[in-house]
Amino acid sequence: MIEVVNPATEEVVASVAESTPADVDRAVTAAAEAFPGWAGTPLDERVTTARRVADGIAARAAEFASTMTTEMGTPLTFATRVQVPNPIGIANAVADVVESGYFDDERIGNSLVLREPVGVVAAVTPWNFPLQQMVAKVVPALVAGNAVVLKPSELAPLTANLLAEVVAAAGVPDGVFAIVHGTGAVVGEALVAHPRVDAVSFTGSTRAGRRVSALAAETVKRVALELGGKSACVVLDDADLSRAVKIGVANAFMNNGQACSAWTRLVVPADRHDEALELAVAAASKYVPGDPALPETRLGPAVSAQQRERVVGYVRTGVAEGATLALGGPDAPLERGFHVLPTVFGNVRPEMTVAQEEIFGPVLSVLPHAGDDDAVRIANSTVYGLGGGVFSADTDRALAVAKRLRTGQVDVNGAAFNTAAPFGGYRQSGNGREFGRYGLDEFTEVKSVQT
Ligand code: NAD
Repeated sequence: MIEVVNPATEEVVASVAESTPADVDRAVTAAAEAFPGWAGTPLDERVTTARRVADGIAARAAEFASTMTTEMGTPLTFATRVQVPNPIGIANAVADVVESGYFDDERIGNSLVLREPVGVVAAVTPWNFPLQQMVAKVVPALVAGNAVVLKPSELAPLTANLLAEVVAAAGVPDGVFAIVHGTGAVVGEALVAHPRVDAVSFTGSTRAGRRVSALAAETVKRVALELGGKSACVVLDDADLSRAVKIGVANAFMNNGQACSAWTRLVVPADRHDEALELAVAAASKYVPGDPALPETRLGPAVSAQQRERVVGYVRTGVAEGATLALGGPDAPLERGFHVLPTVFGNVRPEMTVAQEEIFGPVLSVLPHAGDDDAVRIANSTVYGLGGGVFSADTDRALAVAKRLRTGQVDVNGAAFNTAAPFGGYRQSGNGREFGRYGLDEFTEVKSVQT
């Protein structure tokens, strides 16, 4: 059994049966056998399934939100406002794209170009936006006619089991969708290496992504990787500094600082660094660690004791490398739970560890820049390229900088997240794209038939 620990109380709240490699084989075999039947169902039936999944999540929104808060510590208000609505938006956006003709045959000269499902899809997901990450794979894969075996994070299995109920209630036949629970090293590896899996869609750390890619290469599976990040919020010298810092801090600390595309580097004009640091400290101080189930809590715990140690280790490294500790530090703020103090470093140089490595906790680094070119250079100076932000009073200037960032997503002046637009990374942040039309591309093959 896998024990589920509430990170705010450190208590075991549930346990789920752990799968074995033999279970993985049974699930993949059942998926391979169910695939042709599912691929042959009328497209509109599969689109209806996507809508039913969206509606099913909406109908059980409160249950999904509280389950995520209990098993991974996201503040309940954030779960309710973001972690549940986003996947509903993602599922409906996929249905919209298909209804607007995504699968229509294309004619190129004497060829008919068809879109077909890939086959059996292995989906492997992390714990930080557990429902969103599962839905962003399972729904487009099923709508495209694939069979799916999902291995959710061993830290968030309860949300996965709720989703399984919703998918079953949506009318997906037996064998077409299955969940295997367990660790990455055992169940994850057995799944992504299985010879009857045709495609792997992986979201998680860059380290695990490398291993998944290598295992999948043995049988030349199609692989889409959504990996880590170290995104920058670039503030240009004409920007409203106070607004930019406020939005930047909110982005960095959302979900307890555990978001892949979090703007963990705040890159500000050098002559306004001290002012920006003061504003960042003021904004970050409002993230008081507390019980994530309470409506007033903005900062819940790290997901696990191990993750807390990792974050605190980075905070110590930041201090040792000479960054200015302006708020927070390595001390535990509460007796119970894996909590971390909201932490802000100033005078961070691009080569410092806290500016290079993904920390995955409420730790913000403020870096000075000497103009637009320097800001772009700093923003592009890590191995990652997932998210980013640019702030300027001049939208054209912000857009020019946005185009120079080597990253898959950039928000100009705090623009809203879009669940229909492609989401994914450059460089070691991965190679996949999720959501909408681009997300469906991951789960379809293209065939040319000459006539
Ligand atoms: P993780 O890599 O430890 O685990 C992710 C998933 O992969 C889990 O289900 C895990 O069991 C499995 N796994 C681990 N090793 C495996 C292996 N060798 N073979 C097969 N499966 C394996 O990551 P995590 O701690 O769960 O999540 C946090 C990480 O995910 C961060 O790096 C974050 O940036 C990244 N992430 C990326 C995105 C994105 O869209 N790019 C979104 C969210 C999180």
